[in-house]
Amino acid sequence: MSDIEIAQHASMQPIIGLAKKQYGIDAEHLDPYGHYKAKLSLEYVASLADKPDGKLILVTAISPTPAGEGKTTTTVGLGDALNRLGKKAIMCLREPSLGPCFGVKGGAAGGGYSQVVPMEDINLHFTGDFHAIGVAHNLLAALIDNHIHHGNALDIDPRRIQWKRVVDMNDRALRSIVVGMGGAANGYLREDGYDIVVASEVMAILCLATSRSDLKVRLGKIVIGYKSDKITPVYASDLQAQGAMAALLKDAIKPNLVQTLENNIAIIHGGPFANIAHGCNTVTATKTALKIADYVVTEAGFGADLGAEKFIDIKCRMADLKPSAVVLVATIRALKFHGGVNKEDLNLENVAAVEKGFQNLERHYNNITQHYGLPCVVCVNHFTFDTEAELALLEAKCKVLGANCVISKHWAEGGAGAQSLAQEIITVVDNRAPGCTFVYDDNISAWDKIETIATKLYGAAGISANAKIKAQLKVWDENYGKFPVCIAKTQMSFSTNPALKGAPSGHTLEISEVRLANGAGFIVAVAGDMMTMPGLPKQPAAERIDIDDTGKITGLF
Ligand code: ADP
Ligand code: MG
Repeated sequence: MSDIEIAQHASMQPIIGLAKKQYGIDAEHLDPYGHYKAKLSLEYVASLADKPDGKLILVTAISPTPAGEGKTTTTVGLGDALNRLGKKAIMCLREPSLGPCFGVKGGAAGGGYSQVVPMEDINLHFTGDFHAIGVAHNLLAALIDNHIHHGNALDIDPRRIQWKRVVDMNDRALRSIVVGMGGAANGYLREDGYDIVVASEVMAILCLATSRSDLKVRLGKIVIGYKSDKITPVYASDLQAQGAMAALLKDAIKPNLVQTLENNIAIIHGGPFANIAHGCNTVTATKTALKIADYVVTEAGFGADLGAEKFIDIKCRMADLKPSAVVLVATIRALKFHGGVNKEDLNLENVAAVEKGFQNLERHYNNITQHYGLPCVVCVNHFTFDTEAELALLEAKCKVLGANCVISKHWAEGGAGAQSLAQEIITVVDNRAPGCTFVYDDNISAWDKIETIATKLYGAAGISANAKIKAQLKVWDENYGKFPVCIAKTQMSFSTNPALKGAPSGHTLEISEVRLANGAGFIVAVAGDMMTMPGLPKQPAAERIDIDDTGKITGLF
C-alpha cells in the first residue's frame, strides 16, 4: 500500500478527546480545526512554564539521497515505540511545504506505518500557517513598494531592496521579475523576485520566537534593504510593519496538535529550509512538548552536517534547549549511493559499496559524538531490498566504530518495529545529564565561526571569499557580534560539490554570498548555488494527484 492508502485506513480519534486522555489537556485550551487538528492556546503554553522538562531526542541522518532517508518516518516510529513501551512521548515535526508535495519528493508526514494523520490535510494547507506566513511576508513587500511610491521618505535605495516576495509553490518563472510596470500610477519600476515560503525570514522568525512580543520585536528587526548611502540598513520597524505582520500571524504562532497512525499526539509546527535557515520546527512547539511529555522526539532537515548542526548551534543555543541524544538515520541505499552506486542500481545487493559509503556515516557519527557532545544511536531504516549480507557488514562496521547500531522496521511495522531503537534510546538518555556542546564559541568572529564549522565538521582545509564578503562580515561582527552562522550548502555532500559523495577532505568552502537575517538572529553564509525558489521537475508529482467525487485524494505518495 502507498503512504496515502495506509493513512486513509487510519482510525483517528477526535483530537480534543485524545489530548485530554493522553496529556490531560482540557478542551478550553484547544482551538479545533475540524475534528483531527487543533491549535494549542498560548495561555496554556505559558501556564506550563514551571513544569520540569522531559528528555529531548534529535533525529538526523547521513548525507541524504534525493528521496530522503526517512528522518520523519523514524521520528514518528520512535515516538510510537516509546509510547508502546509505556512512556509519555511526543513527536515534534515540521510542517510540509506545498513545493516538494507537487514536485519530486511528495508529502512529508512520515511513511509506511509511521505517519502522522490526517495526511492529506497536513500536506495540503494544514491549519493555514504557511499561508499566514506568506501573507505577512508579502505585506512587508507591499509596504516597501508603497513607501517608495509615496515619496520614499526613508531614502530606500530601490536597487538595494533585499526583501523579495514569497509563495508556497515551486515556480521557477517567478525567480526574477519586474514590478511596477505600467506607468507612474503603478509604483516604482524595479527588479524583484520570489522565494518559496519556507525560505522566508518570517518563517525562521516564527520558529525562533518565544512569545507574541518577541515575535514583534524580531519582525521589526528585519533588514529590508539599504538607504542610498549604500550602508545604512532600513528595518521593517522603520515602516511600522511589525504590528500588522504579527496580527496576521496570530494563529500561526500557536502549535498544531495531530496524531500518529497509532493515536499518539504529535505537534507539527513551522518548517524553515535547512540551508538558508535553520531547518527545525518551532521553539514554542519543542518547549511545550518538553513540558507535557517525558520524551520528545524531533527532527532537523537534511543531514547531520546541516540540520543537526543548526539545531544545536542556532536553535538549542538561542532557546537554551538541552538535548539528550541523537538518532542518526542511515539506509543501506544511501550508503551504497555514497559508495558510488547509481540511483537506478540502489536496490541491487552491493556489499562493497556499503563498505565504501560507510565513511559518510562515520564522519557524521564522529561529528555528533565529538563536536556536538551527544551520544548517538545509528538507526538503520530498513528497506525490503536490504540484504542480510549488507546489513551484517553495516553492523560489523558500526561495532568497530564503537557505535550502537539498531536495525529498525518502523516503516513496515509501525511503533512495534522500532521498539529496540526506543529501548536503546531510553537506556542512553536516562543515564546521562541532558546537554550538548556547541561547535563554536559565541564570541569569535563570523568568519571564524564559518571556518570552524567547515574544518571541524565538513573536513574542509579552509574557507575562502572575496574581499567584499569579508568586509561585510566585519561590519556585521561590529554590529551583530554574537549571531550564530547558518551555512547554506548542498545537502548531498560534506563539500559544496553535490557529486563528491562519501567523506571528502581537504576541499575549500567557498563562500559566495552572505545575508543578514537580523530578525531571526543569524548570519547566512551561502556556499555554492543556493535555490530559494525551486522549480518543478519534467514530470511533477502534481500530474498524479487527484480527487474523486467523494472527496478522496489519491497520488499524494
Ligand atoms: P526525510 O524526513 O528524511 O526526508 P521521510 O521520512 O519523509 O524522509 O521519507 C521519505 C520517503 O521515503 C517517504 O515517502 C517514505 O514513505 C519513504 N520511506 C521511508 N522509510 C522507508 C522504508 N524503510 N522503506 C520504504 N520507504 C521508506
Ligand atoms: Mg522529513
